[in-house]
Amino acid sequence: MSSVPPVPAQTSNMIARITWVMVLRVLIVSALLGSTIILHLDATAGTDMSPRFLFAIIATTYAMTVVYALWHRWGKWLTLLGYLQLNVDAVLFILLVYATGGVSSGFTFLLHLWVIVAAISVGKRASYLQAAVSSFLLIVVAVFMSAGLLPVLSDQLVFMPGSSGTIYFLLVNVVSLFLVAVLVNILVDRIELAGEGLRREREEKKVLRVELEDARRMAALGRLAATLAHEIRNPLSAISGSFQMLREPLSKDADNAALAGIIEKELNRMGRLVNDILDYTRPAKPFKDRVDLHRLCDDVVRLVRSGLSDVDIVLRNDNASPVHVDVDANQLRQVLWNLLVNASQAVKVDGCIEVRIELADRKAVRVRVADNGTGVLPDNRERIFEPFFSTKDQGMGLGLALCRRVMESHGGSIDLLESNDPGAVFVLTLPLGSCEIEVGHVE
Ligand code: ADP
Repeated sequence: MSSVPPVPAQTSNMIARITWVMVLRVLIVSALLGSTIILHLDATAGTDMSPRFLFAIIATTYAMTVVYALWHRWGKWLTLLGYLQLNVDAVLFILLVYATGGVSSGFTFLLHLWVIVAAISVGKRASYLQAAVSSFLLIVVAVFMSAGLLPVLSDQLVFMPGSSGTIYFLLVNVVSLFLVAVLVNILVDRIELAGEGLRREREEKKVLRVELEDARRMAALGRLAATLAHEIRNPLSAISGSFQMLREPLSKDADNAALAGIIEKELNRMGRLVNDILDYTRPAKPFKDRVDLHRLCDDVVRLVRSGLSDVDIVLRNDNASPVHVDVDANQLRQVLWNLLVNASQAVKVDGCIEVRIELADRKAVRVRVADNGTGVLPDNRERIFEPFFSTKDQGMGLGLALCRRVMESHGGSIDLLESNDPGAVFVLTLPLGSCEIEVGHVE
């Protein structure tokens, strides 16, 4: 069974608007023409106007409505249908105006109403076009009636050809048609703007709801992880301690020694995971002290370098003088360590990592950690700082989340820079409030 393809929102909007224009037209034309005919059929009115002319207008309106309805069902070129309806309406209304007294007819209000309908149903351009077409037709009727080319059908007051009354009504109508077009478009713009604002607000609320839900889930997950890590930590310490005692006798046999090596490696990994989870879920308050930033970076670089033979790690300091910062040294070391370990895992053989200390307008100090590794995929840029996000097989996804937390608790930040070069560049920023630059010797 073939399914009906969904109608795009814009098309369904247009269909709805065209429908209400059709209904409105039939209602207005029926009511107004009906009452006019009743009035003119009244013998006391003594009319010389031909009711047949009015019947012809109402019949044409109904006939055209059938055509529109069929087109509307067909569902194609709906904007053209919108324009066609409005312009044919202008002609019908002008005929009505002509039949009921020319430019002084009370029915000229329909022309104004249709300028508003055009703005709402089709758009700005349609409403100005409607005002222009209606004005043009009104002028044609006035000129033709004044010149005697159109017979006077109505028993209503008709001004003498070319009289100041005709010109006055013509001017008032033409000016007010364009005025209505301008005003209604301002109104439509405002309504659209308000609608757009409301729509955006609704979308933002939706995003916030999803984020809140995520945050709640993460909080629950975090609590669970913290409880598990806490429960695992003590037995893990006991296992590690006991294993250290067994290690000595085991290492006498080569096979056992190899197995013992694996157990030790895995125990260490589990220990790190447990510590990472506890660090992230129960962050310690920073214990700040005045630290030489260059020396701190140097310590960490040396430590990481000692475990890596095929990766080149360089430390550069852009400042001629030492930079002292008020930070929790252990926490900042942990941040730098995490970045360097990530960078060393991202680079291939002969990889290169650069740690650079630089001043940012003397308002903050920055530590850039750049590598020439795999880089971060654009889709992951925002996600890498989320806890438990990892692209590594054995990754826990807590390193960068921990770094962000530490930097924020120091009033600073950590960012992944946009770069066209291969690799990734992370920047740690510490504001001047927490750092001090000393003018002195270069270390
Ligand atoms: P983990 O290292 O356990 O995966 P992290 O929070 O430290 O957790 O890192 C999250 C993710 O960020 C990594 O899995 C990796 O995809 C990405 N990432 C971090 N640093 C780098 C880097 N220097 N180069 C490329 N990707 C990186």
